[in-house]
Amino acid sequence: MASVLHHRARKRFGQNFLRDAGIIERIVRAIHPRPGERLVEIGPGQGALTQPLLDAADGLDVIELDRDLIPGLRVQFFNYPGLVIHEGDALRYDFAELRGDGPPLRVVGNLPYNVATPLIIHLLGAGSAVADMHFMLQKEVVERLAAEPGGPNWGRLSVMAQYHCRVEQLFNVPPEAFVPRPAVDSAIVRLSPHAELPHSANDPALLFELVKQAFGQRRKTLRNNLKGRVSADTLEALEIDPRRRPQTLTVEEFVRLANAVTHSEA
Ligand code: SAM
Repeated sequence: MASVLHHRARKRFGQNFLRDAGIIERIVRAIHPRPGERLVEIGPGQGALTQPLLDAADGLDVIELDRDLIPGLRVQFFNYPGLVIHEGDALRYDFAELRGDGPPLRVVGNLPYNVATPLIIHLLGAGSAVADMHFMLQKEVVERLAAEPGGPNWGRLSVMAQYHCRVEQLFNVPPEAFVPRPAVDSAIVRLSPHAELPHSANDPALLFELVKQAFGQRRKTLRNNLKGRVSADTLEALEIDPRRRPQTLTVEEFVRLANAVTHSEA
């Protein structure tokens, strides 16, 4: 236990440990773990979320990058046979392999801010291996994930997340809930992958390439951003006004565009 208590939070691992019992309870209530489910926690740290998750679920795998935290976790949870501790970088984990033949994984974590976006993209690529995700993230990132078309936060990350998932911003968490305090506000987000994609791209890689290009310069029109790639005639044929700004396009419109380009202009 001593190594847990004397651990000094490391900035390079994005360590801000949750200390607010009320917030921890709210997070676990939002996740609502049930017996029979398989949970994976990214970055258990000093176990603030690990303990209540283990109390509610049968099986919990945790993935922790900071090897100095591993002995403390082993001591703290020595009498929980349902806990599997992995030492490593969650960004390098093959989540489909981790799932194996078991039920799809419910992934949770209070994520370091520099890891959050690449990890979500990595998990979106794991397809049906992931049942849902609950993350604590920087509030601005949650607002981008959960944005609506036409709003100021709608962008590449929103389109990508909402192509794959239903996204809900659950509640905000102030810096005072952590030790040390982060410089920014945080929020909890739930991502629930669609069982069947409501709008399916023939070539998802091409879709995300086009989305990237379309958002190249937010103030420019679609016609300008997509110059050399998609003609104004094509946009008009798809009933998408070429004078629109990229942040007004819905996921369905981006998919319609990508599927037309697949056939004609890619
Ligand atoms: N879950 C704990 C809590 O809520 O108090 C700790 C949260 S702290 C913000 C982030 C944790 O993720 C740290 O324990 C850090 O060492 C770990 N971590 C950072 N990068 C990681 C990575 N790529 N893979 C796995 N864990 C990582």
